[in-house]
Amino acid sequence: MMISNSKKAFFFASLALMSFAFVSCKSSKGVDQKDGVVVKDVTMNKAPVNDPTTIDAQTSATTPTTSDAQPSSDAQTSATVQTPNTPNDQTTSLPNDQPPHEGFVYVKTLIPDLIEDLRYATTNNFMGAKADGYEGTRVILSRPAAEALKSAADELREKGYVIKVFDAYRPQQAVNHFVRWSKSNDQRNKADYFPTLRKNQLFPKYIAYKSGHTKGSTIDMTICDKNTKEEVDMGGHFDYFGEPSHPSFIGKYSLGEVTQEHKKRRMMLREVMVRHGFKPYDSEWWHFTLKNEPYPNTWFDFPVK
Ligand SMILES: [Zn+2]
Repeated sequence: MMISNSKKAFFFASLALMSFAFVSCKSSKGVDQKDGVVVKDVTMNKAPVNDPTTIDAQTSATTPTTSDAQPSSDAQTSATVQTPNTPNDQTTSLPNDQPPHEGFVYVKTLIPDLIEDLRYATTNNFMGAKADGYEGTRVILSRPAAEALKSAADELREKGYVIKVFDAYRPQQAVNHFVRWSKSNDQRNKADYFPTLRKNQLFPKYIAYKSGHTKGSTIDMTICDKNTKEEVDMGGHFDYFGEPSHPSFIGKYSLGEVTQEHKKRRMMLREVMVRHGFKPYDSEWWHFTLKNEPYPNTWFDFPVK
């Protein structure tokens, strides 16, 4: 009996203490009411989802350019590697008869069915960033190069194809941007563009201080089915840095395989372009330069609009 009574007394004492504690909690909550909501939200987020790596990854993924001071290994960047974006189809610029620069033309004014997909005007390129000097998405070439391309386009159309352009005239400021990038630690698009090369191997073999494109008579291109506008499978994509982009390459590589059939298509494009006055390039199946280019010693810098 005695024990039970003391138990009871203990129980009531505890109950009294608990209610007191509850009241003081309530009142302390009441005091912090104004900040309470904010504090509560932070605590709630923090407790279950406190993942600094996620936050870091998000931050670095949305950081537009690199800080040179921040070293990043392949392993680190693989987390933020992006797959190529869908091609930029926003080529709905208004007709413009004004030439972009003396001696240059908007190529689509000569070849109306040209498909414009200037990759450096988008983030869908080896840098994963839009390049300086690409203020628009219209393909520009020197007039003689555009006229030669028009005759190539006429022949290709007969065969059932239309031309798609990845790059043509390229302002010097874009090339400067590439050089700056090649010396930074940013390699967010490594997996798609240079999986087998270290970044410091890109310069100067793949990225140089001067580019033929800046002289206005060089083009990076492929062909699409005339009706479906689907890109013809060439066994590899524009700006993949490595041997599989050599027109003559046959074999497997990290992104797939270049077959005899792919090689035949690359060679068909090459033959047509050569027939219309262009020089091919042994390291890139998509790259052609007008043989008699009008500005062989001038590197232009007016922007692409
Ligand atoms: Zn090129």
